[in-house]
Amino acid sequence: MLKNDLLEAWDRESFFHPSTHLAEFARGTAPQRVIRGGEGCHIETRDGHRLLDAFAGLYCVNVGYGRPEIAEAIADQARELAYYHAYVGHGTEASITLAKMILDRAPDHMSKVYFGLSGSDANETNIKLVWYYNNILGRPEKKKIISRQRGYHGSGLMTGSLTGLHLFHRKFDLPLDRVLHTEAPYYFRRDDTSMTEAQFVAHCAAELEALIAREGADTIAAFIGEPVLGTGGIVPPPAGYWAAIQEVLERHDILLIADEVVTGFGRLGSMFGSEHYGLRPDLMTIAKGLTSAYAPLSGSIVSDRMWKVLEQGTDENGPIGHGWTYSAHPIGAAAGVANLKLIDELGLVAQAGRNGAYLNRAMRDAVGGHAHVGEVRGEGMLCAVEFVKDRESRTFFDAADKVGPQVAAALLEEGIIARAMPQGDILGFAPPFCLTEAEADEVAGKTAKAVQKVLGTA
Ligand code: PLP
Repeated sequence: MLKNDLLEAWDRESFFHPSTHLAEFARGTAPQRVIRGGEGCHIETRDGHRLLDAFAGLYCVNVGYGRPEIAEAIADQARELAYYHAYVGHGTEASITLAKMILDRAPDHMSKVYFGLSGSDANETNIKLVWYYNNILGRPEKKKIISRQRGYHGSGLMTGSLTGLHLFHRKFDLPLDRVLHTEAPYYFRRDDTSMTEAQFVAHCAAELEALIAREGADTIAAFIGEPVLGTGGIVPPPAGYWAAIQEVLERHDILLIADEVVTGFGRLGSMFGSEHYGLRPDLMTIAKGLTSAYAPLSGSIVSDRMWKVLEQGTDENGPIGHGWTYSAHPIGAAAGVANLKLIDELGLVAQAGRNGAYLNRAMRDAVGGHAHVGEVRGEGMLCAVEFVKDRESRTFFDAADKVGPQVAAALLEEGIIARAMPQGDILGFAPPFCLTEAEADEVAGKTAKAVQKVLGTA
């Protein structure tokens, strides 16, 4: 084995890390961590530190680390057939079985699954399918996509444009044309603090309606949203939000893309966020929890109504001009089949709901009363703590104070990984579904300690 110091030097010299301060990393002033193992909710660094990963990697290792059932399914598939493509009607037992398993779990009106590799590419696929659909229907002007401020849909060209966070646009010449952003369903950050939750929902629907009126409904193809805003702050929608939004979309014949990359396969304590909040999507984006990140795999689930038009399109124009070399990669598919079986066998969806509620309660008890905690919120196995400078007037800290990152760093010193979310001082938690009550208590207790260390005992 390489000595740690040599590996660390190679890392600084050779490795372009995503979402990293490149100059600080290369200079050696930004942290570096080499991970070598994991079991359950814990990972182990190469220098022997054991950390409780309360963000499940990037909210993706849903069944927890070190599951031999999935590792063996991957190894068996690699030995039997590591690769064959899925073009012109090819498949493997794993990819066909997985498509069937996904549809068995998805809402009844969903028809087919297209497989990709990442949440970003699945959303790129979805946007192309929406444009294709409207071209086949003879509506070439109906192409714009509405996303939400603070939405996260990936970091490709189109998906980075759909993402509603400054960091992903600045200096990249994004967003591209055809992308519009509307109000985020973020009640805590509403401009007018006198609004009730119901008034705020009506306001979000009215903002959407006004945007559609300004642009013209005949130019707008689809609306994309995460059932619960994830990277933008872990924000469950206010009651009635999705019903109000869907009413507007249906009235203007605008398709709905439910980005279930985080919420799919159990994170909310339901199989999908669409089921949880009563969404009727035309397309669903899945990734992360599909394989619990044991192998890269994503999917676009297409509804009956869209599928019929796609079939019409290929009758008129020939085979669909879309595909990746690694679409439906057999190793990813084998990981997906084993992962979904494990989730069923262990009852992990229900456990995510139960223990997620426990974690949210424990977190509220531990830090909810602190003078600089504005809100503790969550749903299922998602939880966020948002910090404020002043609770009464709901004023926020200056971004330069880096309060969120400081609390995350203090928590890391306690052996717990949480995520400082990118816009605002928000500490995010999204542990594996196998988090026990004792581990939830540990996460909450140590968070209280970290908050006190950074913001005092107030
Ligand atoms: N959509 C949502 C809701 C996500 O949270 C993410 C990633 O965090 C993506 C899409 C992009 O997925 P990926 O990073 O696999 O490209």
